[in-house]
Amino acid sequence: MSGVLDPLRLKAREAKRLLVDGEVSAAELTKVYLDQIAAVEERVHAFIRVTADNAAKYSTKIDREMQAMRGPLAGLPLAVKDNMVTEGVTTTCASRILHDYAPVYTATAVRKLWDAHVVMLGKTNLDEFAMGSSTENSSVQVTGNPWDLATVPGGSSGGSAAAVAAGEALWALGSDTGGSIRQPAALCGIVGMKPTYGAVSRYGLIAFASSLDQIGPLTRSVYDCALLLRHIVGKDPYDATSVELPFEVELPEGDRLDGLTVGIPGEYLALGIEPGVRARFDETVALVEELGGRCVEISLPHTEYGLPAYYIIAPAEASANLARFDGVRYGHRAEGAEDLLEMYERTRGEGFGAEVKRRIMIGTYALSAGYYDAYYGRAQRVRTLVRRDFARAFEGVDLIVSPTSPTVAFRAGSRTDDPLAMYMSDLCTIPVNLAGLPALSIPCGLSDGLPVGFQLIGPAFSENRLLKAAHALEGALGFETAPTFRDSAASSDAADAARSVAARAAADGAPPAPPGEASS
Ligand code: GLN
Repeated sequence: MSGVLDPLRLKAREAKRLLVDGEVSAAELTKVYLDQIAAVEERVHAFIRVTADNAAKYSTKIDREMQAMRGPLAGLPLAVKDNMVTEGVTTTCASRILHDYAPVYTATAVRKLWDAHVVMLGKTNLDEFAMGSSTENSSVQVTGNPWDLATVPGGSSGGSAAAVAAGEALWALGSDTGGSIRQPAALCGIVGMKPTYGAVSRYGLIAFASSLDQIGPLTRSVYDCALLLRHIVGKDPYDATSVELPFEVELPEGDRLDGLTVGIPGEYLALGIEPGVRARFDETVALVEELGGRCVEISLPHTEYGLPAYYIIAPAEASANLARFDGVRYGHRAEGAEDLLEMYERTRGEGFGAEVKRRIMIGTYALSAGYYDAYYGRAQRVRTLVRRDFARAFEGVDLIVSPTSPTVAFRAGSRTDDPLAMYMSDLCTIPVNLAGLPALSIPCGLSDGLPVGFQLIGPAFSENRLLKAAHALEGALGFETAPTFRDSAASSDAADAARSVAARAAADGAPPAPPGEASS
């Protein structure tokens, strides 16, 4: 059976039907993905750790113990971003400081999926501690975009997005602090959703910026996105910011948008959107009207202040969250220090990469006595204004749409020396996190042979409305995901990019690469 399953096209909905009807076994399905990993991972580098043995064993167990293991997602293979802790499987955050960290518990979102009997294929690459927009800040490797291996998959959930796009996983979990699910989904031509803040427990998600972080699905269809989302939401006693959704996540149906009013924020389109992205966006807006929706121009006047406010708030929270990595309790510890202070300094100096250090310094500065009000306090007030912009807009519209990213996937290495250019990748996604809203990205076509993402944003807890609209639009767009694995660069360019990571790591005195699969 597995011979006819195409991992580049198969969706979870169909895979689930095949499993339930007994047309394919969990072990066969898992093997399809493990085979695809074996075939393309050498070029894509989506995974930090592939848990092939565990996946094969667990899927066989599902087949054997069908009666007991008939969880709603039984046998559906999943990839997990390596910033969610998984008992028995090392969790690195793509950082040298956690290169051998073996968690003693499992993140709630992952635990829920394990309880539903998904098969975990492995842990995916990311920008170190989820700080970045290209996955190039990983201390482990550079991930290639399956649409063009010389370009980045976006970030920080670039490993998860690339794995799904490359058919190395049926679906995946990512995390989104300022766009890290939606932007890589857009750049890799798949669906990615950031739920309402609090809808999914953050317990076991290694914190970057706690008031912004949210776990969500990366999938090959909107239906799959809903299917995965409905199994990870809910109040968790271990996360005081989590809430019980006042509704059940519905599996979307329908192909019309009648009665839906959609707002187009002028400010987002003034943000330097690339012409090819703008063209796909305009066509998709026209499609919204063809399906019966009504599009109106709206204003979100504080949009331009979203990015600067984010780059105070997120680093401020990160500087506090990352204080725990001190060589005493977790991961790497510098050798041979004379005293405790030197041990802290050297551990953190060796363990963190350049971007993480930059953010810790910015954040510590912004929170320091005397500057707190001028920076952090002010950024929080701007955050309130951004939130109010959305609240006002949603008095007149049901959803807001925009391009997900101003550009398609960019060349690896082209923005690594210019942090500000990198930060611009998230202009259209960051305000959504500041306001705590749900949003998703769906592929809406190609520009220069690379995927373009269309973002839909809704009021808090409008997940069902969002998914339904995205599903109708997806049907009309008819975008079929099938990347080509071409490599536009002379292969030497890609090799250079990979080498530069190795060189950076060596220059920083990196400890050895992570060990193999942790025992379980
Ligand atoms: N690219 C943004 C940043 O670097 C967002 C990252 C994220 O959402 N985790 O902070």
